[in-house]
Amino acid sequence: MRRSADELDKMRKAGKVVAEMHEATRAAIRPGVTTRQLNDIAAEVLAKRGARSNFLNYHGFPAVICTSPNDMIVHGIPGDYTLKEGDIISIDAGAIIEGYHGDAAYTAGVGEISAQAKKLIEVTERSLWAGIAQLVKGNRLNEVGRAVQNVAEAAGYSVVREYVGHAIGTAMHEDPQVPNYWPGTPGPTLKEGMVFAIEPMVNIGSYETYMLDDGWSVMTEDGTLSAHFEHTIAVTENGPEVFTAA
Ligand code: MG
Repeated sequence: MRRSADELDKMRKAGKVVAEMHEATRAAIRPGVTTRQLNDIAAEVLAKRGARSNFLNYHGFPAVICTSPNDMIVHGIPGDYTLKEGDIISIDAGAIIEGYHGDAAYTAGVGEISAQAKKLIEVTERSLWAGIAQLVKGNRLNEVGRAVQNVAEAAGYSVVREYVGHAIGTAMHEDPQVPNYWPGTPGPTLKEGMVFAIEPMVNIGSYETYMLDDGWSVMTEDGTLSAHFEHTIAVTENGPEVFTAA
């Protein structure tokens, strides 16, 4: 769907709130902090900016961010988990302003992390930006996934298949979906005013996943580390505009 200038402006504002949730949680990441504390910090940003949460109560999700450490890929529920030196933690955050949504994620290290973990984070973020660069008027949507996959696989990593990016607007998850790999068909032609959440999930090992008994937490099947980066981006006359960047 193509959004009007007025709608894009609201999404820009929602994106700024998400960027602020990222900054605030990132500044708090250190050994000894619980994922519940990170959630509370993000909730304070929502309250301060008069934004609503799109995560809270989404199919019953009980928090305003997802917190996914180490071999957890996405959708972790904030709680008693205490960050420890050497962990990596993925934070996914969202906000609604005047009915319009923003959605973005990052992965950070806790204290000193291994060279392998650092490289995973660096490659996953780079794969996101390679995907974003494809969000150009006239291009085909699934070039995003092809670009993401090329970066991740060149590093010897794999891209998660079951969970994908999405269009975003008056709902967090709108059609079409945006796979982080080449799905075999080019997909829709990109037009100005379309907005997408691009969100590669990259594993050091295989892309297979399983879910914990909580019905949310998605894990790597082989127990290897996973990283997740996401931005909300509009296709504009001047190329991709990232709404959730700091
Ligand atoms: Mg998303």
